[in-house]
Amino acid sequence: MNKVLISGASVAGPVLAFWLRRFGFEPTVVERTPALRHGLGGHAVDLFGSGVEVVRRMDLDQQIHEARTLTTRMTIERTGKRPVDVDIAKLSAGISDRHVEILRGELTKILYDATRDDIEYVFGDSITAVTDDGAGVDVTFEHAEPRRFDLVIGADGLHSKVRRLTFGPEEGLRRHLGGYLAVYSLPDLFDLGNRMLVNLDVNRLVSTYGVHQTGEARAAFLFRTPAELRFDHRDRDEQRRIVEAEFRGHGWRVPQLLEYLATAEDFYFDAINQITLDTWHRGRVGLVGDAGFSPGPAIGGGTTLAAVTAYVLAGELAAARDDLPAGLRAYEQRIGRSVTLSRAAARKTMKSVIPTSRAAVRMVPWATAALVKLPASVQKLAWAQNGLGKSLNALDLPNYDNLTVRR
Ligand SMILES: Cc1cc2nc3c(=O)[nH]c(=O)nc-3n(C[C@H](O)[C@H](O)[C@H](O)COP(=O)(O)OP(=O)(O)OC[C@H]3O[C@@H](n4cnc5c(N)ncnc54)[C@H](O)[C@@H]3O)c2cc1C
Repeated sequence: MNKVLISGASVAGPVLAFWLRRFGFEPTVVERTPALRHGLGGHAVDLFGSGVEVVRRMDLDQQIHEARTLTTRMTIERTGKRPVDVDIAKLSAGISDRHVEILRGELTKILYDATRDDIEYVFGDSITAVTDDGAGVDVTFEHAEPRRFDLVIGADGLHSKVRRLTFGPEEGLRRHLGGYLAVYSLPDLFDLGNRMLVNLDVNRLVSTYGVHQTGEARAAFLFRTPAELRFDHRDRDEQRRIVEAEFRGHGWRVPQLLEYLATAEDFYFDAINQITLDTWHRGRVGLVGDAGFSPGPAIGGGTTLAAVTAYVLAGELAAARDDLPAGLRAYEQRIGRSVTLSRAAARKTMKSVIPTSRAAVRMVPWATAALVKLPASVQKLAWAQNGLGKSLNALDLPNYDNLTVRR
């Protein structure tokens, strides 16, 4: 039985493990966090179209639907201007017929629960070295004893360790899209329930949305700076200071939101970068999801891409079973167009999601509200032109049913 080591247990990792197991492989998943960061934590992510189809084929669509966020209305507020209401369900329907928004932690929990009985998970550990001798890969870990696998796959996100070990430092493999993103939990100060409030300003977007499962809320801050910021991505205090400095003096509800910045345990901050690699394997080491081709957090449909590419990777490896590197090559060919389109769509979204001018601050809310009032077919056309809809629908999911191994 082929042994595959997967680094990362979030979205791409467990989806890949599920399908590899179904196709007769023996996957092991190593996850850096000591216990799974699951449940009601994390930001809200989206499964669109083919991403929903992948979880349907895993028979998890009902559970995922039940765990979805219930954010249905977005109100865009700007100082001195009338608020603009947007129906979020209609906005998403314009991108794809099928859509679920779910907290990333909830999605991970469902995927983990669906795989934990059949698959070995190792928490609180990380790969330190991979040596590919052409016939297999010797792996060392921070804690566990060295082991040998037939294949190693990095599903370990934007700052992937497997990518660093195989393709080199991140600096040369990413494109900065000019923005930054911070997210954290706080009490539901504004009685949001299932609403999202958004405030726009030049080079700034702040939002807060309710999390119905906990009765709490999340605050998200997006901003652009004239020059790229240098910061240590492990130094949370430094990152909090950056957000505080950027938004000090910003009116609206920001002072209340910032009161929880210092104490939020789940504070997250990162640059909005995309990974620019255009090949996702070397020998017997491959990459999937954000590790290989993050289009940029929150702007390019990364969760759908992670689920879909993990499914395709498992299928192509199973189809090539006796020649796993050939399976990796076939996987690259299948997903290449989707990756290219999602990167292009993310770059476009990045230009428009945070207003760059006073005119954009005035126009964006009305354009968004007007878009959802258009017939679905016209909305789809608009999203296709933006590129997001096109990128999410670029890959017809292959059917790998004949590769299932009955146990
Ligand atoms: C704030 C924010 C908002 C977002 N909003 C959206 C959205 O609205 N819609 C959308 O579709 N997408 C969104 N995304 C993007 C989405 O979260 C990712 O595209 C998706 O989670 C990618 O899944 P993944 O499994 O490839 O990687 P990740 O979810 O990043 O998971 C990587 C996993 O690897 C683990 N790991 C990291 N390093 C190691 C290591 N050395 N060893 C072992 N394990 C390791 C991590 O702990 C993690 O569990 C957002 C992202 C962020 C950060």
